[in-house]
Amino acid sequence: MHPQHITQQLSPGDADATSSVFNPGFVLDGFLPDLVITTPEWVSFHVHSGRLLLSSSNAFGGLLTQPTYSLALPEPAVVINIVLSIIYDLQCHHNPPPLPSTQAALDALVKYGVPLAPLAAPQHPLYRLIFSYAPYYPIEAYALAAHHRLENLAAAISSHLLAYDLSRLSDELAIKMGPVYFSRLANLHRARLAALRNIVLRPPAPHAPTANCDHDAQRELSRAWAFATAEIVWNALPNTSTSSLRAAFLQAGTSVSCPECQNMLHQRIQEVTNEWLAVKSTI
Ligand SMILES: [Zn+2]
Repeated sequence: MHPQHITQQLSPGDADATSSVFNPGFVLDGFLPDLVITTPEWVSFHVHSGRLLLSSSNAFGGLLTQPTYSLALPEPAVVINIVLSIIYDLQCHHNPPPLPSTQAALDALVKYGVPLAPLAAPQHPLYRLIFSYAPYYPIEAYALAAHHRLENLAAAISSHLLAYDLSRLSDELAIKMGPVYFSRLANLHRARLAALRNIVLRPPAPHAPTANCDHDAQRELSRAWAFATAEIVWNALPNTSTSSLRAAFLQAGTSVSCPECQNMLHQRIQEVTNEWLAVKSTI
């Protein structure tokens, strides 16, 4: 499904365009469409009233309480195309429409009585469509999912927000996501920073004293580790990478010549990497 195809086939003065998917020959379960939806730009969508009624808890906004053959809806074609794709369980994330159109489509689905929560399971087009925005518009996608209480979507999108500076959040988006989802995101950031501090604070374990490196000599590694830790904690972000942790501690180890100490350092770096990767990265 490529919603842009609808708009691509429209040009000024191009009246009576028909959806490339929802056309008069669009068969569902052996039946041809029995209802034509038109948009303000005069784009026609040929659909099955039974399918719309089945998906809606309010007879499609009360518009299908009586049998009818045509509906003129106020939403533009790009929005109706998303609405119908979701109702018909057709994927539309491969060539996603602009995010505002998807936002408008969610509002329209609510208006037409289509419950969103069951449609937000990971295999469903609605989930895939909204999640497709996460790499590019993570905070907007998160706010959209949060606004409609689409819990698993908001959680999945939150992993794209580990580097997001919450002080930059606009009032509009804060209101849209609501206080609960806002504080869950802030708590995720806080929890990850606290976890990182706890992980890096523990220095490499000492090795058994050798002729060249007794307990006192091993303090050099602990000191170097402590300096690296201070720098890491000072610069830490909730999305600090394991490679930057590794690089900082390896750098700290360059002043240590004892091979046993080096061995303990490498063991500890591996532990730090594993522990940091295991810290929860979603709300
Ligand atoms: Zn040593």
